[in-house]
Amino acid sequence: MVKQAISKLTAYTPELTLAELKQQRGLDKLVRLSANENAFGTSPKVGEALRAWNFTDANRYPDSNVNGLRQLIAARLNIDPATLVFGDGLDEIIQLLSRTLLAPDDEVVLTRPTFSEYALHAAIEGAKLVDVPATDAGETDLDALAAAVTDKTQMIWLCNPNNPTSTYTMRDAIEAFLAKVPERVTVVVDEAYIDFVTAEANPSALALMSKFSNLVVLRTFSKAYGLANFRVGYAVVAPALASTLQTVRLPYNLSSFAEIAAEAAYKDQGFVDQVVQTIAAEREKWTAFLTEQDVTFYEPQANFIFMRIEGAADLAEKLLQNGYLVRTGLGDEWLRISIGKPEDNQAVQQIVSEFL
Ligand code: PMP
Repeated sequence: MVKQAISKLTAYTPELTLAELKQQRGLDKLVRLSANENAFGTSPKVGEALRAWNFTDANRYPDSNVNGLRQLIAARLNIDPATLVFGDGLDEIIQLLSRTLLAPDDEVVLTRPTFSEYALHAAIEGAKLVDVPATDAGETDLDALAAAVTDKTQMIWLCNPNNPTSTYTMRDAIEAFLAKVPERVTVVVDEAYIDFVTAEANPSALALMSKFSNLVVLRTFSKAYGLANFRVGYAVVAPALASTLQTVRLPYNLSSFAEIAAEAAYKDQGFVDQVVQTIAAEREKWTAFLTEQDVTFYEPQANFIFMRIEGAADLAEKLLQNGYLVRTGLGDEWLRISIGKPEDNQAVQQIVSEFL
């Protein structure tokens, strides 16, 4: 029998591919602005590195320890290579942390709304979710999160910048928060979108690792590095927990292809810097547009914008008819739109202004 916690979950329904949706709707063009992908593609160095791969190695298992990428990241971040744990995207890391740390009836504290996978994996483990509403400005309410901690709290999720609100918490505030949380509680800061932050010079919580042994920082190659298809994410974790996670995870969770692609993308920092700059400029145009149109939105720091528009579902349908797929269903009248190429952002803004 399927365990009870799992039998209660919403059933899986296959998502249409972009090609299928395009055909179903009879569209000439369809741009996905619903998944916070990198609209500017991937570094050309990735293709070069993959083409140079020796396909006669395809019958051999990949390096279980992901050593090449491990050394590269450890050197750049100036951390001990043994503190890195790799996953088949951050999705796998979120599952791995949940299954390693959570037992039935443990409590998991997080902000609302936030990335849905945290709640999904807490539910699968039979843990109880304690979700704390965001502030009126859409920011994670750290005081309320700290106040929600009980003897049963096992983990706290901080998504920074937060998906779907795109709001950002400064590192000083995270440090003050960590000082209030008991050491037995694991605090995971998911930095999937950290590369897009322009509000602070060195925004990452990584600098706090040496001070707080219960801190875990997550990063992914799916966003700024443009490698969502290759599924590479990693956690930076204190050595004892890193070693446990290495024991629990699947032995060959990254293919050599994924590792080589991530290495090439990581080495081409120029590409990432260019993407981040363009997105920051487009983000400014978006916020100027929304301010001018008097639309409510949260101050964005990631590669997407969360806005409140009456009739959001109708607007999303209108955008789809015009070839733009955006995200709804994240709260009453709220819409999340990924920042795309300049011409697409302009076209979407035109449709939004006509709708208002
Ligand atoms: N964390 C957050 C906050 C995300 O938005 C996403 C993807 N949308 C993930 C993790 C998962 O990323 P990955 O592609 O590395 O599995």
